[in-house]
Amino acid sequence: MTRPAGYKLEDNIEVLKGVGPKKKNALSAIGIHTLSDLLYYFPRRYLDRTLSDSIVLKDGETVTLLATVIDSYLAHGKKSRLVVGIRTSRNERVSLVFFKGVQYFKNVFKPDMNIAVTGKLEYFRGLQIVHPDYEIISSAGDPDDNDFTHIGRIIPLYSSTETLKSDGLDSRGFRKLIKQIIDFAKDTALVISEILPAGAVKKRHLPERKKAFSEIHFPENDESLKAARTRFAYEEFYFFNLLMNFKREMREKVKRKLWPLPESPSAKKLITTLPFQLTQDQEDCLIRMKELSSKDVPMAVLLQGDVGSGKTVTALITALHYIDNSIQVCLVAPTEILARQHYNTIYNLMGNTPFLGIELFLGKEKGKTRSEKVNRLKNGDISLAIGTHSLFQDDILFKELGLVIIDEQHKFGVEQRETLRAKGKNPDILAMTATPIPRSLCLTVYGDLSLVTIKNKPAGRKPIVTKWVREDKQIAVYNSVKKYADQGRQCFIVYPIIEESEKSDLKSCIDAYESLRKLEFKEYSVGLLHGRMKADEKDSVMLKFKKNEIQILVTTTVVEVGIDVPNATILIVEHADRFGISQLHQLRGRVGRGEHESFCIFITPDKVSDDARVRLDALLSTNDGFVLAEADLKLRGPGELLGLRQSGLPDFKIADLQKDEALAIQAMDDAKEYGTLSDIAKIEMRSRFSEGRILFPN
Ligand code: ADP
Ligand code: MG
Repeated sequence: MTRPAGYKLEDNIEVLKGVGPKKKNALSAIGIHTLSDLLYYFPRRYLDRTLSDSIVLKDGETVTLLATVIDSYLAHGKKSRLVVGIRTSRNERVSLVFFKGVQYFKNVFKPDMNIAVTGKLEYFRGLQIVHPDYEIISSAGDPDDNDFTHIGRIIPLYSSTETLKSDGLDSRGFRKLIKQIIDFAKDTALVISEILPAGAVKKRHLPERKKAFSEIHFPENDESLKAARTRFAYEEFYFFNLLMNFKREMREKVKRKLWPLPESPSAKKLITTLPFQLTQDQEDCLIRMKELSSKDVPMAVLLQGDVGSGKTVTALITALHYIDNSIQVCLVAPTEILARQHYNTIYNLMGNTPFLGIELFLGKEKGKTRSEKVNRLKNGDISLAIGTHSLFQDDILFKELGLVIIDEQHKFGVEQRETLRAKGKNPDILAMTATPIPRSLCLTVYGDLSLVTIKNKPAGRKPIVTKWVREDKQIAVYNSVKKYADQGRQCFIVYPIIEESEKSDLKSCIDAYESLRKLEFKEYSVGLLHGRMKADEKDSVMLKFKKNEIQILVTTTVVEVGIDVPNATILIVEHADRFGISQLHQLRGRVGRGEHESFCIFITPDKVSDDARVRLDALLSTNDGFVLAEADLKLRGPGELLGLRQSGLPDFKIADLQKDEALAIQAMDDAKEYGTLSDIAKIEMRSRFSEGRILFPN
């Protein structure tokens, strides 16, 4: 049979043998439309064919075996079951036992089929595995199947789902389709050309693309597989960096129109009236930002500093250089409580200067107040707009927006940053975060931002004493709270409501509030604060807490970010085992903000999971946010650390920002050296990174 020559990577998967409407729809549902998409559907893992050769089979051991089906029969006894006999490469017999789905499994396993099974060996009249995980590698009767003998030593396994499997797309199904494409390429019926610059491929000793596709799906050996993997990881980094550079270039094309003043009288005045001296780090950051904002390309800065390092005042001083020159500034925060806190802090700091153009924009406002504010903003009467997500709304327009400040930037998405930016004529960006990001990760993800860091906290802060206490010692903890409250200090008691939609958790927080208020702390003033409360209720609670009219605040993670009440010196986290490292570190950052010694108490049940133990031990061992971020990165990976959905972190298929750190940096350098704008056009990868995360300035 002659094959129509000249396939292209953009061809629809329909050109493959065995792809009918059913498979086509199933694949399209997971985003696979073209031959190229399918080639980029990399194996989830690999099995080595020599796998079972060396395994000693014994009772209680969990194993993965490659084996051939010998027979299957129904066994009747106390419980009827299906028994499938398999033979390993060393000629040992193992029985697979199924109590459920007997009819279904009877049809699955056919003699001479090659399968991989994973499960725990048990001894019952011979070795058996009950309900193993299995993969069919090849079946004897299927003429289209790649013969087992033709599969290399390393067998690729693909992600699949029950739905996909029911459409014939198990690992074997994927392998059959992908094999066809690789064979086309071998016969030169399909040309797979290189998309990386030749110089980079050579310099980094990467396998060329065609070979790499073949090796990643059907590896000859471990080394070639590793090389192929590296190549695709590099490819992802390279094109991602190219896009970041492109973005930056586009941004920098638009030259600065609005110039902040080199010296701001208001800032000077503020500095003299501050109740403290700026730290060296704060001053350095200010100088660096002044430098960046005196260039003709707009500034884009990521200001990184651990919780309590004093980012707010640094941002405010920067902002005043714009405001003094009649350039508008906006400051967004992720929660209403934090936005209001910023408003109050700044309002109070600026109290004795004629600084009236500050306004707060919160979510729920409607009607006249809002439209009046919106108008003043548009006319330029408001010089500093502080708010929450409400500032992203379409009706929020500025006369001359020159600086966008984003507090707790990791709580926002890249798109949101862009939405704000679009409200001005390419304004400067100052994004702030307390989530320290390892440098390589930072360069990759925020490659278009300049990193400015506050390394040290203001002097004179006492270290926070952190303790991990079991539930049965709660009374002792409460007694210490009373002791410090009697001395005038305040306390947070945090309950785990990770998502404010978790009703039952919220209930336990409210119940705890009721009982603490009536029993344990009936002599004290106890307050309740959670995200589901009305904005004005939240405000009044926060205000009372700030004024020390509330001594003990029972709350949730709504206080996680930003809250600044220096007189609060005790933070108790109930069920601390249910929080992540960053979250606990942020929470701990609520105390230790003043002159008094502070305490952070983690309360957990007697038994906690191993993961929870690792997390809590990390927090007990250090107060250093950078060290903790590294630990968190190890435990959870970058996506979780930054909050994958919002972070703007690309959905890398194969690259691992942690393990491939060195590669990421190479790709970054190479993108600078070899990358050209025209390369962007040829990226089929464009769509892979563009799922709303990276915005293309078209
Ligand atoms: P974060 O960096 O976590 O946003 P904040 O800006 O909320 O920290 O600052 C934490 C606290 O430290 C605030 O009460 C602030 O007034 C205070 N602060 C800021 N800078 C200094 C400084 N140089 N010396 C002493 N206290 C400072
Ligand atoms: Mg802050």
